[in-house]
Amino acid sequence: MNHPTAQVGSEKQHTVVIVGGGAAGISVASSIHKRDRDTDIGIVEPSDTHHYQPGWTMVGGGVFRPEVTSKPMSDVMPRFSSWYQDKVTTIEPEANRIRLADGSTIGYEVLILAPGLELNWSGIDGLDAALGSNGVTSNYRQGMASYTWEMVQNLKKGTALFSQPPMPIKCAGAPQKAMYLSSDFWQKNHCLSDIDVQFHNAGAVLFGVADYVPALQRYIDRYRISTYFQSTLVAVNGPSRKAIFRISGSDGRSEDREIGFDMLHAVPPQRAPGFIRESVLANESGWLDLADDTLCHKRFSNIFGLGDVSGTANAKTAAAVRKQAPVVAENVISTLRKAPMTAAYLGYGSCPLTVENGRIVLAEFGYNGVLQPSFPRWLNDGTQATRAAWWLKAKQLPALYWHVMLKGHEWMATPAVRSSH
Ligand SMILES: Cc1cc2nc3c(=O)[nH]c(=O)nc-3n(C[C@H](O)[C@H](O)[C@H](O)COP(=O)(O)OP(=O)(O)OC[C@H]3O[C@@H](n4cnc5c(N)ncnc54)[C@H](O)[C@@H]3O)c2cc1C
Repeated sequence: MNHPTAQVGSEKQHTVVIVGGGAAGISVASSIHKRDRDTDIGIVEPSDTHHYQPGWTMVGGGVFRPEVTSKPMSDVMPRFSSWYQDKVTTIEPEANRIRLADGSTIGYEVLILAPGLELNWSGIDGLDAALGSNGVTSNYRQGMASYTWEMVQNLKKGTALFSQPPMPIKCAGAPQKAMYLSSDFWQKNHCLSDIDVQFHNAGAVLFGVADYVPALQRYIDRYRISTYFQSTLVAVNGPSRKAIFRISGSDGRSEDREIGFDMLHAVPPQRAPGFIRESVLANESGWLDLADDTLCHKRFSNIFGLGDVSGTANAKTAAAVRKQAPVVAENVISTLRKAPMTAAYLGYGSCPLTVENGRIVLAEFGYNGVLQPSFPRWLNDGTQATRAAWWLKAKQLPALYWHVMLKGHEWMATPAVRSSH
């Protein structure tokens, strides 16, 4: 294990350096500051705008206006931190230093990696060029959920395809959420019977945690959606409105099938950002190699991580970040004080599956699919579609995100204590 020592000779230096000013980076900065107001924190984040990505599904379903899903980065960047508006290109963990795109370096005592994940648009042949016209859309592309909603409103008959790539992806339920909200709109507008809705999932099951499948299956039946498993979108031709799916058989063989469409909601395969994937910090799958409970790197004791970049086996969601940020904050403070780490993350993640406009199946689970409901069953039964969960997602969660989570108020997120303590 490496031990934190400040590097002499670096151009700049902070006690804590955070890479990424998304949901995870801003939340963890606020949680550290809440615990120790004197901690000197630098945040590296290239973007001008901070996005509330969980809202994009709602934009695609005509529920939210696009404007409510973003704010200028300067509005969410904590005033107590130093903001470097640049990209990190390299991490030099042996030297306790990161390198930025402008060539400068920043030294750290503790490094927190929160750069999210990379949407690999070119992993599907022709998709990038096809997006935004000829009915090809994706709620995963920033700014494109409005086009999804436009396509949904315009489609009166034909074929609508919804694809889901291999896991892991962020918000594993989001490919389905787009499909259910679209189908609900078509049903309410009496055109669903003229639309052939197909769900093509690279995986083998409807949802990874079996307890939620019956409720989702009821909506698949209600909307008469045809489901295809182990069917992976591999190519798109926008102008000819054709998609190619690779269907894997149980004998290990695969065949390609071309399907014409009037609307295609595509989700790209996803991976860790290159500067993590190709570094010594990655696990064998390219994700950040973290201990499941402490979220400390397995080999470098002064490096932590959280959010979508993590190689831990939780659902990659902002809801996971809500629980991870206080854990990382506590363990970082302990590390700086040379004390043992006491906080543990139990793998919580949540996926609010918008099965219709007005009801949600609120999937909440931890490592190994163990259910971790936030509310008693009488208030909200997560295995059923409920109005209470819709109210939470549509009316409460955006404000909780901007004003509670990003500010370090830690709503329902007290860290568990590590069993050895
Ligand atoms: C369509 C959709 C629907 C979703 N629905 C839900 C939902 O209902 N509920 C839920 O909880 N979650 C949902 N999510 C997932 C949620 O948005 C993510 O899990 C969450 O944003 C992860 O936070 P993060 O900080 O790890 O990544 P991000 O929020 O993506 O932030 C990463 C930040 O790192 C920065 N960065 C990247 N590379 C570098 C670099 N080299 N140097 C410095 N900075 C860098 C980026 O600019 C970005 O600001 C959804 C996501 C999508 C796309």
